[in-house]
Amino acid sequence: MGMSAPRLSFDIEPLASAGRIATARLSISIDGTAVWPVLGETGQGLEIQIDDLLAYFTEYWKPLILRQVYPIPVNPYRPSDLRREAVVRWAALGGAIAEREETAVSAFEDAHDLSRSFGGLFGLPHFWMMRSGNQMIVETAGRTWHLPFAETCEELGSAGDWIRDRLVQSDPVKWARAADAWASRDHGDAAGLLAWSAGLDRELAQALISEGALEAPQSFTDAANDNDELRIAARMAGALPEDQIREILSMARGFKGREAGALVELSTECTKTLLDRRIYPPFVQGEVAAARAREVLHIASNERADIFAVAKALGVEVRSLVVEPRSFDGLAIWGTKYGPGAFLNTGSGRHRVREAIPPEENVSLRVTLAHELCHLLLDGDHTLGAIEVLKSRMPPSVEQRAKSFAGEFLLPTSSAAALWIEKGRPSGRQALEELVEELARQYGVTRSVAAWKLQHAAQSHEVDLDAILDSIAPRR
Ligand SMILES: [Zn+2]
Repeated sequence: MGMSAPRLSFDIEPLASAGRIATARLSISIDGTAVWPVLGETGQGLEIQIDDLLAYFTEYWKPLILRQVYPIPVNPYRPSDLRREAVVRWAALGGAIAEREETAVSAFEDAHDLSRSFGGLFGLPHFWMMRSGNQMIVETAGRTWHLPFAETCEELGSAGDWIRDRLVQSDPVKWARAADAWASRDHGDAAGLLAWSAGLDRELAQALISEGALEAPQSFTDAANDNDELRIAARMAGALPEDQIREILSMARGFKGREAGALVELSTECTKTLLDRRIYPPFVQGEVAAARAREVLHIASNERADIFAVAKALGVEVRSLVVEPRSFDGLAIWGTKYGPGAFLNTGSGRHRVREAIPPEENVSLRVTLAHELCHLLLDGDHTLGAIEVLKSRMPPSVEQRAKSFAGEFLLPTSSAAALWIEKGRPSGRQALEELVEELARQYGVTRSVAAWKLQHAAQSHEVDLDAILDSIAPRR
């Protein structure tokens, strides 16, 4: 943790009047600035009963620490967007599903929004906490922070301990039960812990353990460490039907662990490049990392990248096969036991593989492999199970980054711009169609990637070709 103050801090100030031991003023700050109950205003604490806060931490400890996915198949950017996306989804579905999912969404809100935990106090500003990998997403008053997970977790634990001590010291008998419940907040059987951390229902979690498809977590800490690549893969695939989850896990287990020093080195380089660019939007991060990767690999800007050869040279095992479901594009796996590997589903609806063309020449597979390479390089500190499916549970920002990495790695914006300028900066439909074709052929990408990069290229010269390029090759 170092000597610096915790980034997230629960400031609980007892109100010293006799007989009101549980009454205190609560404010929450981030990096020394008050963020709740009033953003930016120090000294605006809310009067609460501290046992309410302890009960909240106790009851929702498992979801707060272990859960990383939403309870229904939507994938919002921020926890506060869950209900809005759910409502859109429900409008298209039958009443029975909507009713069942409404219960799940409400339960999610109770667990992840601290403002709901104070009896009798309503209409407070929301305060959301949700884990995402080694970060805790905190959201209030329209702002979002990505805080280091371990540190944040420690602060929640200390706040709970502080409250417990204060209550027990005042009246050990009265508060014994609350103290016991707090002490056993992380108890749970393996199936239950796996269910929370992988976002699976309990029966399925139990079944996957019994079948040997997944290893049972040894403890709460083991589950919270989240460093088992197969469990991560199960989480990513978790919105699919059960047999498809099993299928994908068995695919992942096929990638036996191997040395990949070159991949580690490149990963370190790309991560280093992003260190002071964490605040950039994900798509910019993807481009910056791709440019650095091309540089390290000595691929000239106008050169077609042989992504299959690159993967092989980095020590990534690449396989392609036709498997179900058609919505499954591929997976990346890398951890202590499996990988690094990339699987490309030649049966995917998106890949449209024709038998006559080898995978290395198939432009959709090239794009997917470059995308998986980004996951291997940037996501997960060498613990990763990335699954590309229609109902992916990958955080949208991580997906955006991988997508823009793939585009830039295979076709740098500067190269698209160079050709566009060489052709006399065309803006007419026919000339642009030809240019998209030429870029796609020369760089070995799909028409939609070529059109998308051409949009960027024109934008970088302050020309807006979005509408016409969208009509030539719609974004996918
Ligand atoms: Zn992805």
